Amino acid sequence: MADKKQNKRNNNKNYDEDYNPRFRKQRKKVCVLCSDKNFELDYKNPEQLKKFVNDKGKILPRRTTGACSKHQRDITTAVKRARHIAILPYTQN
Ligand SMILES: [Zn+2]
Repeated sequence: MADKKQNKRNNNKNYDEDYNPRFRKQRKKVCVLCSDKNFELDYKNPEQLKKFVNDKGKILPRRTTGACSKHQRDITTAVKRARHIAILPYTQN
């Protein structure tokens, strides 16, 4: 009886890990700035910074950009500088 219960619990656990979408597709994102050494973040380059803001002009979170904490801070500063010199918009619409 005790063994049966144990099995049931284990099966449930396996079900979560294999089929629950929360636990799937955990492909590790690599920081763009860390992986590409030639990539230089420039606040005067709006084309480059557009990758890090959404269509409303908001800065994308780290879970979306995949940047490490150090580079996410750099990105944030660059976007804010670009906004200040009117290269990037503060808002859209
Ligand atoms: Zn990085």
